[in-house]
Amino acid sequence: LDAGSKAAPQPEIELTANARRVLEKRYLRKDAAGRVIETPAEMFRRVAGTLAAAERQYDARADVAAKEAEFYGVMSRLEFLPNSPTLLNAGKKNGQLAACFALPVEDSVEGIFDAMKYTALIHKSGGGTGYSLSRLRPAGDMVDGVSGIAGGPVSFLSALSAASDVIRQGGVRRGCSIGLLSVHHPDILKFIVAKDDPLALTNFCISVAVTDDFMDALESGSDYDLINPRTGKLTGRLNAVEVFKKIVAQSWKTGDPGLVFIDRVNRGNPTPNLGPVETVTGCAEQALLPYESCNLGSVNLAKMVKQAGEKMVVDYDKLAAAVKTGVNLLDNVIDVNCYPLLQVEEVTKQTRKIGLGVMGFADMLVLLGVPYDSFEAVKIAEYVMGFVTEKARDASEELAEKRGVFPAFKGSVHDAPGGRRQRHASCTTVAPTGTISLIAGCNVGIEPFYATVFVRNVLDGENLLEINPYFESAARREGFYSGELLQKLVSCIDLTQIDGVPERIKRVYVTSNRIKPEWHVRIQAAFQRHTDGAVSKMTNVPNLTTPQQQADIFLFGYREGVKGITLYRDSSRELESLCADEKA
Ligand code: UDP
Repeated sequence: LDAGSKAAPQPEIELTANARRVLEKRYLRKDAAGRVIETPAEMFRRVAGTLAAAERQYDARADVAAKEAEFYGVMSRLEFLPNSPTLLNAGKKNGQLAACFALPVEDSVEGIFDAMKYTALIHKSGGGTGYSLSRLRPAGDMVDGVSGIAGGPVSFLSALSAASDVIRQGGVRRGCSIGLLSVHHPDILKFIVAKDDPLALTNFCISVAVTDDFMDALESGSDYDLINPRTGKLTGRLNAVEVFKKIVAQSWKTGDPGLVFIDRVNRGNPTPNLGPVETVTGCAEQALLPYESCNLGSVNLAKMVKQAGEKMVVDYDKLAAAVKTGVNLLDNVIDVNCYPLLQVEEVTKQTRKIGLGVMGFADMLVLLGVPYDSFEAVKIAEYVMGFVTEKARDASEELAEKRGVFPAFKGSVHDAPGGRRQRHASCTTVAPTGTISLIAGCNVGIEPFYATVFVRNVLDGENLLEINPYFESAARREGFYSGELLQKLVSCIDLTQIDGVPERIKRVYVTSNRIKPEWHVRIQAAFQRHTDGAVSKMTNVPNLTTPQQQADIFLFGYREGVKGITLYRDSSRELESLCADEKA
């Protein structure tokens, strides 16, 4: 039992065995000898207490104890969790609490090495970084009036990757990085193949920033311009179809690069008055200005379903309450955060972006009895995320009444007739939730279930056999659970091929290897339509997909309106399915 507050006994926190292990290994405080000296309840109390104290910055008579209880409540009931750095560092000296950062890489030796230093500081503090490399002059360009000297963006990629590789975030994990290069950059062909060597650029993803002009040229089969960012001058033209083919071939082979539709991202930029967005963050879920950071938090949708008579339905009252508390909590993070760089603090406090999102979407669907690969799931995604964003904006507006609108409000898209007087330039983002979903005990982000039975690589090579808990209880409840059933699933017989399992169950427990890529894209697009920032989504494509089919999926994503898309033609990197080789 977790001890909880000293004053009053707290209900037990329903953590899975995996969640406890992750917390013990990474999140709970330890003494000098490495012994855990904090319970999970004490961790949530540390976070709640630190964040609730920020209330006093706005109201000297604020009821901090009540706010602490509210924050503690949503976290300890696993209804809402802030991103890992907040759980890890809140209440500690120099605690850095945000997950996402964006760094421009300026076109000078100082600029490039500043970016490396800033990377080290950000990653040490627990953040991941998105880089815009498009400002760097191309390889072979002039330096100090001498031509043929510049290394070009690709040569600096490995330096940035090495900088993030040597730093472990808070001693526990490595920072994720993503590098973006404009499709109009003269070095684009070199960039596309920068990750051809599987050992190159570990923990570093790359994406091509594609413009509307490029997509138009692709459609008409024409050439498009390459521009030297140093001079602004045209250096050549490439055929859009040929470049796209190269992107697809490389993505088919290695998973990188992905695509970011940068003009679309900028149409959603809430503060064009502060300049354009040049990059997205580590796992591509948030579009940020140079030096901007963002803290994230996710509502656990598995906890937002209730029984109504015979049926399970979405509990919208509970969802609204969790979103409201979440927005308040994330707003307070901005004020108590210790920023790794002055520039980051300045830009972040101008826009006050927060990234409230969701996790456990697959859990919600099975509880509602809806298959992931269905238009009903798309409808639920739209409705639920639409509701979350609406409630988040309401909460942001309510906070703004007491605390003021974000400082860069004037001239922002919100500063218009009918616009909302918000506390945050943008409120919602769908994060990957790689670790916090493990703590909450729900499925990751908005992904489908990976397998019914799988080996989870928990930490540092430890493996654990897991059975989907909803499947297990449905099987027991409906009387088809047996050792034989488990044996069949463990030996990779697909659920759809097993006699005695009701058809409805086979349909609802569809796993990612059975889901056509189009459905991944439709679900991502449904969430994107109702999300201020971007949506982190892994689109798994079957191993036997051809490059042409892969090209079609990229284009389908573009037409559906996603802001970015990355395809993985193999099994997930995090989980190892027992049945990985039976892909459709
Ligand atoms: N991130 C990172 N290293 C990691 C995982 C995540 O730097 O090992 C950063 C990355 O920038 C990502 C952000 O944290 O965009 C949020 O990732 P996620 O939602 O998976 O984090 P969690 O809060 O679940 O740990």
